[in-house]
Amino acid sequence: MFETLSDRLSGVFESLTKRGSLSEKDVSAAMREVRRALLEADVALEVVRDFTERVKEKAIGQEVVKSVTPGQMVVKIVHDELVATLGSEAQTIDLNAPAPVPIMLVGLQGSGKTTTCAKIAKRLTDREKRKVLMASLDTQRPAAQEQLKILGEQAEVDTLPIVEGQSPTQIAKRAMEAARLGGYDVVMLDTAGRLHVDEALMAEMAEIRDISEPHETLLVADALTGQDAVHLAKSFDERVGISGIVLTRVDGDGRGGAALSMRAVTGKPIKLIGTGEKLDGLENFHPERIAGRILG
Ligand code: GDP
Repeated sequence: MFETLSDRLSGVFESLTKRGSLSEKDVSAAMREVRRALLEADVALEVVRDFTERVKEKAIGQEVVKSVTPGQMVVKIVHDELVATLGSEAQTIDLNAPAPVPIMLVGLQGSGKTTTCAKIAKRLTDREKRKVLMASLDTQRPAAQEQLKILGEQAEVDTLPIVEGQSPTQIAKRAMEAARLGGYDVVMLDTAGRLHVDEALMAEMAEIRDISEPHETLLVADALTGQDAVHLAKSFDERVGISGIVLTRVDGDGRGGAALSMRAVTGKPIKLIGTGEKLDGLENFHPERIAGRILG
C-alpha cells in the first residue's frame, strides 16, 4: 500500500510547533513529499516539477487556520491545484457541426481504441438518439476490422462493410461517403495504432485527418501509461491535433498520473474515462476522483 500524502506531510510538519503562516522552509520540505507522491502516481517528471512550483507559490505565506494542521492545508492546496489543472468544467463530445459529424480516434495499439469507439457509439445512439456509423481504418492488425464489426453488432450500431485490400485513406473516404448517403448523424473512425509513436503512424493519422476533417479527434490512452504519457500526448497533439483525451482502464490499479501529465502538456480536456471491458464501461470524467487517486 502507498503511504498517503497526508501521512507523509504529518511527518514533515511534526516539528512545526508554532502555528502561523507556512514558511518557505516548511513548504520546501512539504514539496519533496508532494513530488514523491506524484512520481509514485506515475505523473511525468517535467509535469511534476512545474506543478510543485505552482503549489509552492500558492502555499508560501498562507495562514494556517486553527481547525486544520499545516499538513492538511498543503494537501488541500495540492488537491485544488490538481483539480484546476485536470479541468474543473464538465466535458462532453461536441457534436455541434453539420452531419455527419466525423469523430476520429487515435492512439497506440492496445490502448483501447476499438473498444472505446464502440462504447462512444453506443452512448451516442442510446442516450442522444444519434444515428452512428463506425468504420475501422486499421489495416495493420489482422482482424481489427472484424473486431469492430462484432462490437457494432453488440452495441447495435452500424459498421462500414469491410472491403478487403483497401488502404486506410480509401476506407476513410468510403466511410465519409457512406455516412453522407446513409443520413448518419455521426461517423466514427477507428484508426490503427502501433506499439510506439513513430513517423509512419503520425503520417497516416495526418492523412486521414485531412480527408475526414474530424470535428473531434480523441486520443485514447491507457491510464497506466507512465513517463511516456508526455511524449505520447505531445506527439499526437502536434502532428495530428487532438481535441480531447479518453483515459482507459481507469478500473485498474493505476493511480492515473497520466491524466495530469497529458492534460498539463496539451491543455486538452479529458473527456471520458473507460472503466471496464464491457460496452457500458464508459463514464464522464470527474477531476476530483482522479485527484483523489493521485494523492492516494
Ligand atoms: P486497440 O488496439 O487500441 O483498439 O485496443 P482494444 O480496444 O482492442 O483493447 C485492448 C484490450 O483492452 C481489450 O481486451 C479490451 O477489452 C481492453 N479494454 C479496453 N478498454 C478498457 C477499459 O477501460 N478497462 C479495461 N479493464 N479493459 C479495457
